[in-house]
Amino acid sequence: MLDYLGLESDLTGEEKMVRDEARRFVEEQVKPDIGEHFENGTFPTELIPEMGELGFYAPNLDGYGLPGLGQRAYGLLMQELEAGDSGLRSMASVQGSLVIYPIHAYGSEEQKEKWLPALGSGEKVGCFGLTEPEHGSDPASMQTRAERDDGGYVLNGSKTWITNSPIADVAVVWGRDTSAEDSPVRGFLVETDRDGVTTNEIDDKLSMRASVTGEIGLNDVWIPEENVLPGVEGMKGPLSCLTQARYGISWGVVGAARDAFETALEYSKNRDQFGGPIARFQLQQGKIAEMATQITNAQLQAYRLADLKERGDLRHQHVSMAKRHNVRVARDVTRTAREMLGGNGITTDYSPMRHLANIETVYTYEGTDDIHTLVLGADLTGIPAFE
Ligand SMILES: Cc1cc2nc3c(=O)[nH]c(=O)nc-3n(C[C@H](O)[C@H](O)[C@H](O)COP(=O)(O)OP(=O)(O)OC[C@H]3O[C@@H](n4cnc5c(N)ncnc54)[C@H](O)[C@@H]3O)c2cc1C
Repeated sequence: MLDYLGLESDLTGEEKMVRDEARRFVEEQVKPDIGEHFENGTFPTELIPEMGELGFYAPNLDGYGLPGLGQRAYGLLMQELEAGDSGLRSMASVQGSLVIYPIHAYGSEEQKEKWLPALGSGEKVGCFGLTEPEHGSDPASMQTRAERDDGGYVLNGSKTWITNSPIADVAVVWGRDTSAEDSPVRGFLVETDRDGVTTNEIDDKLSMRASVTGEIGLNDVWIPEENVLPGVEGMKGPLSCLTQARYGISWGVVGAARDAFETALEYSKNRDQFGGPIARFQLQQGKIAEMATQITNAQLQAYRLADLKERGDLRHQHVSMAKRHNVRVARDVTRTAREMLGGNGITTDYSPMRHLANIETVYTYEGTDDIHTLVLGADLTGIPAFE
């Protein structure tokens, strides 16, 4: 596997073990069927508990049966899962960074005890409802409302593009608490079997096909007071979760790019044209050198993020730079890899086109490339250009 600057030689024994276990899981359990899942638009749901047993959900958090690994091990895990498919990494990112993390960081003791062991083991599935049909890049304008009523809250609104919502047991829904002054954004734990909750699937995707995506409809849904996350108010709640998930994406997409690169490299050495392997042509070697360099740059950013996160110096703008850069790299590399495979490159027999299609989603979700550009622009100039 490409590790041109030998970054992996600095890994601890535990980190190597985590990487190898995830790599083996992907090789044995994911790669054989993932093309078919992609074609059929299905997620291999039977792997959800196994992924829990292997500690793939929120590996960097501890207590309540969670693995308590370091930040680099968490990143390596996401990298190996996304080498299988971005849908697999999305499952782990949502369950870990967007559902387990907010309950772990902002939940009551009862909420933690009720949900964390079940979510960590994959016995229960969670989803994260922030995006709305009319509010994507600007989630602070959300229209979902929660009004106090009868010892709890009544929720109304609709969320869309929600990974896992059709298969989720619980949704972390972000909405405005209209009973409090200035209607702050708060997090609500909504069991999906409550009256008034619908979770229709979005099934016409051309990207991220091996991942379940849906809506969350909330029509006069009553939840008890104890389902509100007590520890956070305002946009800091959802945004802090997104920083965790984007960190995982910055690592994950390196896996997709690496897998596409390795596939193209191997293919170029075995595909003969004009009497010998296409890898002997300078044009092909130029592509191989460029892909390897881009992936290495992305690896360097991911490793540096891990060090900063480990010592508590990671700012969300650092994560924006790495998410933006590394997803761009994955987009370029998967396209070049696809091109090197010629006609075979457009089939599900090889991974690059599937990764390329997936990366279009990754380029858009968790902050579009444009939005991360604006975050960096605001940080570097001191002048926000969002409006
Ligand atoms: C497969 C998939 C899974 C997803 N999973 C989840 C999930 O689990 N939970 C969840 O809450 N959301 C999820 N999302 C939603 C995702 O986060 C949003 O799609 C994303 O935030 C962009 O919002 P939008 O689609 O409404 O696009 P818009 O915000 O409408 O953007 C349209 C275009 O305008 C550009 N744009 C917007 N504002 C500006 C600006 N100020 N300056 C310049 N350009 C701008 C954008 O960059 C984009 O190119 C998912 C999306 C997909 C596709």
